[in-house]
Amino acid sequence: MIIAIDGPSGAGKSSVTKLVALELGFSCLDTGAMYRAITWKALEDGVDVNDAEALGELARSCTIDFEHEAGDPSPKRVLIDGIDVTGEIRTQRIDQNVSPVSAVPAVREALVAQQQRIGRAGNYIVEGRDIGTVVFPDAEVKVFLTASAEERARRRVAQNAERGVGSVDYEAVLADIIRRDEYDSSRDVSPLKPADDAVLLDSSPLTIEQVVQAIVDLAREAR
Ligand code: C5P
Repeated sequence: MIIAIDGPSGAGKSSVTKLVALELGFSCLDTGAMYRAITWKALEDGVDVNDAEALGELARSCTIDFEHEAGDPSPKRVLIDGIDVTGEIRTQRIDQNVSPVSAVPAVREALVAQQQRIGRAGNYIVEGRDIGTVVFPDAEVKVFLTASAEERARRRVAQNAERGVGSVDYEAVLADIIRRDEYDSSRDVSPLKPADDAVLLDSSPLTIEQVVQAIVDLAREAR
């Protein structure tokens, strides 16, 4: 079974995805981490983030791996061509460059193919922006998870403080979230929008446990 979780940055997709996976015994796939890893590699190799052809070539030639630990559905490490980029992909440098990289059709084509291969290998809960619309249009459960930009910025700052990576400046994080929302929603390829058959969940007034329970219920009904 595939559970698709789409929505904007900071809506709580990662935390919710992990808890639903634990509850149902599923694996997690964080497709945002893949776009972030390609962005890291482009910056590292000095590839211009506006050079679509070079980015497409890079995405086709790189191998992204997720290393798991027993009992944990979300990966311990993210590797690109064998290099551990787990912490590096969460920095502001990547936040600021990932949108143009993920708007390149050839980059998406390469990563979507990898995502489809991984997801269909088992029971997966897959989070991203285009999972229910493009990657797994036949997913058994589709959820579009949102929250207000302010609520998302508050959560992202708290998460960054806890992890010790990324910005803890609320205004800067809010501005970045709004900028990325606009970019991701208005791009030509795979814009951020709910699939016609997705269940819309606004997490602003809900606890994380309520969001998790709602998704677990949808998955049980779909079985
Ligand atoms: O989910 P996360 O915030 O880590 O994603 C980082 C960026 O990757 C997003 O802002 C978006 O530009 C891009 N992305 C995407 N399609 C996905 C997942 C992420 O375009 N399926």
